[in-house]
Amino acid sequence: MNRGLISIQVLLYFLIMILMAIVCSSSGAAPVTISGTVSGEVNSGVTITLTGSTTNQTTKTDESGEFSFTSQANGTYTVTPSLTSYKFSPNSSTVTVSGASVTNTDFTATAIKASTISKLTKPLTFTGSARICTWRQDKTAAYTFTFDDSGRSSHYLVAAPELEARGMRGTFYLNTKRIWNWSHWQKLFDSGHELGSHSWSHAHMGDLNEKALHKEFGKAKNDLLNNIKGMKSVPSFAYPYGSSSALVRSIAMLYHSNARGASSGNGLNASDLSLEEMFSINCVEASGPPYDMNRLPIALKTAIKNRGWIVTLFHSVGANEESKSGTIPLSLFREHLDYVAGQSGTLWIATLGEVAAYIRDLCKTVYSGSD
Ligand SMILES: [Zn+2]
Repeated sequence: MNRGLISIQVLLYFLIMILMAIVCSSSGAAPVTISGTVSGEVNSGVTITLTGSTTNQTTKTDESGEFSFTSQANGTYTVTPSLTSYKFSPNSSTVTVSGASVTNTDFTATAIKASTISKLTKPLTFTGSARICTWRQDKTAAYTFTFDDSGRSSHYLVAAPELEARGMRGTFYLNTKRIWNWSHWQKLFDSGHELGSHSWSHAHMGDLNEKALHKEFGKAKNDLLNNIKGMKSVPSFAYPYGSSSALVRSIAMLYHSNARGASSGNGLNASDLSLEEMFSINCVEASGPPYDMNRLPIALKTAIKNRGWIVTLFHSVGANEESKSGTIPLSLFREHLDYVAGQSGTLWIATLGEVAAYIRDLCKTVYSGSD
């Protein structure tokens, strides 16, 4: 055999060895990825957010609905899909990475009905007389106490005990960024009060983009579920400052079952709210000083006359007769509570989540095709 041919063979042999070494080294250190597919009514262009203890990344799905996050460290992550006008099942997924890729983090997309979206572009106010369903216990009207910006110590020190002394319960909307000691709120929850979300940081939701909205809704909801033992879901939300938009409401629907706006009119709601009305629930506020406490009984009488649902809104309750904006003097608060308790033969007094769930169960047909 001639020497030239042998040296070409040797050269080829080494070249192949080098190529194999390159291929092996790159596949041997394959990065750990988190991937999945969005199927259903939309595939491409869905924003996927990956959050972990040290990560907050986003990507978009490709033409076939696929997405992946490469080079992820071991740990637990939340994967959340989002796209305006669509909702996803599940809303988000928790993924644990431990040395191996996680490949089937899949979601199904459903379009939120166009008719619902267009209706949502205007703030919803209920002006007509309430449509009639029969309230629980055959009561004429429903009544709900709500308290905003929990966080406020007067909620557990004054408001809740005053309600409980009269056999009543309320809905307390928390900004979870402000909560340092969850034990007070656990006690309220265990006593039968409802804890709702008032966003994570008390944000002007109407000014936020989709990503920031998911953060506000998601963090607050997770904080509640992670810190309150026995809490399985967070049905109720209240828009800080009453600030919302069609986008805000469509995302609120992904996290909650209902949402209350700021004070408007007489706080009357129909007894068979549509889905969009359920995300724009009216309330009437005890505002002052001076605190004109006649407003609330007048609103309550309207609710009874219309067989509707009245929601009242309070902020702080004074430990004494101090009267300032956002703090109602104790005697006036008690006066109103006694007035409501005195109507208990006529009123179904319940938390916002209880009344909303009752309406949803009772008037299922209202939601068919859109929920
Ligand atoms: Zn607020």
